[in-house]
Amino acid sequence: MIEERDHSLKGFFDMLYQSMNPSSKNSSTEISLKKKVMILCYQMAGLRNKQVSLVKNQIALYMSNTGTSTSGINTLANLGFASTYKTVSRKKKEILSKHEVEFLKYLNEKTNSLIIFLIDDYHDIHQSRNPNNENLSNVAHMATTMIYTPNILPIPYMSPLGEQIHNPMNVDVDLVSWALQFEYMSKLGISYINQKSSWFCMADSSKFTEEETINFLTVHSYDPDFQTAHPEHKKLKLLKLFDFTPQELKSLNDYLQAIYPFINLPTLNEYLLKNIIPVPADYPGQYYIRKAITLRRRYGDLSNIPEKILNLVPLLGPLHVSLNTRETTMKMYYQFFNIFYKEIFKKKKNLAMKPQPWMTDLLLYLTHSGWMIIRKTILRKFKNNKDIEYRTFLDLFDNITPACLDVYTILFREGHFDEYISTIFRLWSIMKRFERKNYNKIMLAFLSDVLYWQSIDHPMYNMLKDNLSSFNEYFIENFHSLIRRYTAGKNFNIENLRKDAINLDNNKHNSDFMEPFITKKNYPFKKKHLDNMVKRSALFLIEFFQKILTNSNTPKDIPKKDDKFYLFPTFNIKMKIATLPTGYCTDHLPSFISRCDHKNCKVVEDNNIDNCVLICGHEYHFQCLQDLQFKCQHCLDYLLNGVEYLGNLYNDRLESLDNTSILDEEEEEENIIDNEDNVSLENSEELILKENLNLDRSLKDALYAFQQIK
Ligand SMILES: [Zn+2]
Ligand SMILES: [Zn+2]
Repeated sequence: MIEERDHSLKGFFDMLYQSMNPSSKNSSTEISLKKKVMILCYQMAGLRNKQVSLVKNQIALYMSNTGTSTSGINTLANLGFASTYKTVSRKKKEILSKHEVEFLKYLNEKTNSLIIFLIDDYHDIHQSRNPNNENLSNVAHMATTMIYTPNILPIPYMSPLGEQIHNPMNVDVDLVSWALQFEYMSKLGISYINQKSSWFCMADSSKFTEEETINFLTVHSYDPDFQTAHPEHKKLKLLKLFDFTPQELKSLNDYLQAIYPFINLPTLNEYLLKNIIPVPADYPGQYYIRKAITLRRRYGDLSNIPEKILNLVPLLGPLHVSLNTRETTMKMYYQFFNIFYKEIFKKKKNLAMKPQPWMTDLLLYLTHSGWMIIRKTILRKFKNNKDIEYRTFLDLFDNITPACLDVYTILFREGHFDEYISTIFRLWSIMKRFERKNYNKIMLAFLSDVLYWQSIDHPMYNMLKDNLSSFNEYFIENFHSLIRRYTAGKNFNIENLRKDAINLDNNKHNSDFMEPFITKKNYPFKKKHLDNMVKRSALFLIEFFQKILTNSNTPKDIPKKDDKFYLFPTFNIKMKIATLPTGYCTDHLPSFISRCDHKNCKVVEDNNIDNCVLICGHEYHFQCLQDLQFKCQHCLDYLLNGVEYLGNLYNDRLESLDNTSILDEEEEEENIIDNEDNVSLENSEELILKENLNLDRSLKDALYAFQQIK
């Protein structure tokens, strides 16, 4: 541009640029260097001409978005670095006033493809940084509504045979029971790792590169710096904010109020005549939308809920499944993880009762990766040992932990549909055992829907199967973390918050200019640190199982009916009964007298050679198990009862007219994706272990010594 105006300046930019010695820099430094030189040129041009404003606008907008005050921006403007506050605030107002038009323009272009609706509560509890101004600290609740428009075809409301997408039964207890009995039960008898070994083309976290490992470990770290490496980040351009309004999203009415303006858009009229809009959501989102649909179907116009609500299809939000199953596992086995944490990181202080998500993710990853190193040795040694402590930790390491780790990061993200459904079934059975409120029901509702769509040949089934990873609530969480980042430390009011959100949405497509200059946070651990931690973890686990083995000949207490806790004698830790394998939660506890738990075992010649101990802790003769088609009869009864009880409970709640709010006791249990502290990765550096050169050697020796134990 400079060169076009004045030929004598030809090469001027290059000359300046080359004088910075760019060839010695890496590529990202090079980009920022180019931009710096560009700014310099603008500066020089700007001395004479006040109209050179493009870069100045960008800088002022960024300053304003990140909370620089009016006088701060104006001072920068006087220095010649940025536009004035007035200019930037005019720009922001312009974006705000055009938002509706822009949204409709975007929507109009997308009515030939699938529209996914996202709705979530945003709350801001930033305190005012100014201690003299206490009035400014407040809490803002906002309802965020957005659309995500992957490039796939819309999904029709009716199946080709004229059946509508909603199952009139809601949770179809018979259908789910049938699938459990004839398809999934035989798989639940073996551990997740065993089942996974029969799946093809599955990513293996032990072979991850540094970037993939960090990705895996930051899946619940909602920090924009980490998120840029997440695979979902590439799809953000398909996302558009609809609105961001003051709202609490705490009741059916709140949800309906936030949803109506969207489904009533005239632009959608034609679309909704034929098609549905899926809504992957957190627990309350699924519950209230389902409830609205149920009431509309049952009471028609009397419900005061418009018919268009039927076009929404609530779906289980996979990111929340991952977060909640991980945190529930951490909570249930806290006593174990506390020992593990103190031992691995040489800590005297206990692990926090509710660790931050990054810590939960790290501990689960370390136990899992450590387990995978020693797994074969342990299995070979213990064989069919039914020791209650061994069975409990086998279930934790070989079944529960890896299922929680994989469900979102591998199965959902990579779109392995059948494996995902199968794992949701498995996680449901575990959440049922843990009596994990809400998730023991919404996972059933999701399974019921999927089975229903499959049974009536609804196109929804194949759309889900072929495009699983599109049905993700991740995007709205990502947007929230951006808002949080850009409003941190600001004195805000609700009007400004809304303005900021709309600006951020607008900037999503053109904010690259400032990008190279923004300081980024790095994940504190490198792959080599993590690999060291994994080896330490493996060493810890060998010792752990060695203690169990040594103590396995001592008879252990068997939990009695109505016991709430079980004391693990080897480690003197007390954990809930539900941490024991599923068999111990049934009416028929695994037997230590007879070697077969079959009710009508007819095997006379008992040589124990081909006995099978299932992951639930029950043991069968191979022949008896074969007679049962490889389904543990006691655990099947237990889970069938669960389907019936929880399915009906959820249905009743959906149908009920007088209780339109989630019960208070239930509500508390949802792990909300919202963690300002999480972002800080507090004191994480001190967890980095000193290099121990002998780790490999020690590990080899420990494994060898373990094998030698008689
Ligand atoms: Zn038998
Ligand atoms: Zn069983």
